[in-house]
Amino acid sequence: MNDKDVKCRVCGEGKVIRKGKRRTKYGCRQLYYCKACGKGFVDCRMRNKTYGPNVIANAISYYNLGNSLEQSAKLVNKRFKVITAKTSVHRWIEEFRSICTYSKLRNRVLMDYIRA
Ligand SMILES: [Zn+2]
Repeated sequence: MNDKDVKCRVCGEGKVIRKGKRRTKYGCRQLYYCKACGKGFVDCRMRNKTYGPNVIANAISYYNLGNSLEQSAKLVNKRFKVITAKTSVHRWIEEFRSICTYSKLRNRVLMDYIRA
């Protein structure tokens, strides 16, 4: 985790300081506090930057469509020419089941997939 990458999600100024951690059922999240606007927020960026949002969204979609973790990993590996493990897929599912902004994207991708 590089704190220089952390931008304020409220005002976009990017002048944030760490303000402890909050333990959620999805794991420990870093809390940040913005010096510019005074708002606090929880960092919920994707931890794994090796794979793009499409890979992750599709892996989650495959899983939601009834595939096992292993099948989902294989399907996404084949489609995107990547090498993901079922443990990665599991972690993504756990991460993006959270309160973070990803659920909208996931639902959209899932809808696209179902229509296709
Ligand atoms: Zn701010």
